[in-house]
Amino acid sequence: MDFGVEGKAKSSASRLCSLCRENKAALRRPKTLEQICKECFYSVFEGEIHNVIVENKLFKRGERIAIGASGGKDSTVLAYVLSKLNREYNYGLDLFLLSVDEGITGYRDDSLETVKRNEVQYGLPLKIVSYKELYGWTMDEIVQAIGLKNNCTFCGVFRRQALDRGAALMKTDKIVTGHNADDIAETVLLNLLRGDIARLGRCTQITTGEDGPIPRCKPFKYTYEKEIVMYAYFKKLDYFSTECKFKLSSPRTRICSTKVDETVRSIYSPNAYRGFAREFIKDIEKMRPRAILDIIHSGESFRISSSAKMPEQGVCERCGYISSQKWCKACVLLDGLNRGLPKLGVGRSGVARADGVNGVARRQSRTLNF
Ligand code: SF4
Repeated sequence: MDFGVEGKAKSSASRLCSLCRENKAALRRPKTLEQICKECFYSVFEGEIHNVIVENKLFKRGERIAIGASGGKDSTVLAYVLSKLNREYNYGLDLFLLSVDEGITGYRDDSLETVKRNEVQYGLPLKIVSYKELYGWTMDEIVQAIGLKNNCTFCGVFRRQALDRGAALMKTDKIVTGHNADDIAETVLLNLLRGDIARLGRCTQITTGEDGPIPRCKPFKYTYEKEIVMYAYFKKLDYFSTECKFKLSSPRTRICSTKVDETVRSIYSPNAYRGFAREFIKDIEKMRPRAILDIIHSGESFRISSSAKMPEQGVCERCGYISSQKWCKACVLLDGLNRGLPKLGVGRSGVARADGVNGVARRQSRTLNF
């Protein structure tokens, strides 16, 4: 990625940093196009995240915080910056890394090695929960059963719950995820295109799930993806960037994000628009860097009419996880897998169909008590 670093942006090398006016500019900041030095970049990057944390009262002193860690750039930078801010500003947080092992050989096993190194590098304890122990299936086994068409539906739904279950196991107060401003702007556009009022209303919230088992926060809500990459590059952070072997090749058909939020079930649908939204945002960002923030602020300004009918949130009768249906999506999908009918829960009608199908159990059905 060419983001105007030393050697690539010759014009910036001869200029002074527009913030300190002392050092030579080393980069052009994607968010503001300012030519600044590395030290000023670190300072504004970390300072903005600190301000977001303080202004939004994301944490309380003494809280136990799980950092959702995949080994990718966003969660690695999040772990590094949050532990740095926690020390420098004395937040008083008990931080640890929480990773999900989906059981994808050649991908997750390698990325978990990165997280294990981060555990040592940043001095943060690590807890790994696996699909195998939680659901009785690895993603490799699920792909064997279902093929490569709907595998990401299973993976996305299971991952969201796995993170919550791992966090509950570790008696966590909050989970933080590495969702960045680009992710959130994309989600605003997607929910607009789909006319999904319920998700549009909550996708810009910096903390979600306060009525659920464990709230989730996004300290990178206003942090640009390009700046996260730059920060990781300049700081020489150790992160993993290989893509999952099960990801379809075209970004227009499916985008994998190991960051999971409330939109995950729709992200992984075969008709997902996320690839289009992502490309559209990249295009308008080239013309107007602030466009990402504009979209987020537009999403924040939406007001939902009090007469709009919203889905009622209850709990899954089987496992107790939050669900607007009788069974949560993970239980429906798992039931289908265990009955030898893996397509049972895929698609919007899957929940309704699940109760009515008599299949022969291929594996003993598990109940996941949340
Ligand atoms: Fe899971 Fe992403 Fe791989 Fe799909 S592409 S199987 S969602 S890790």
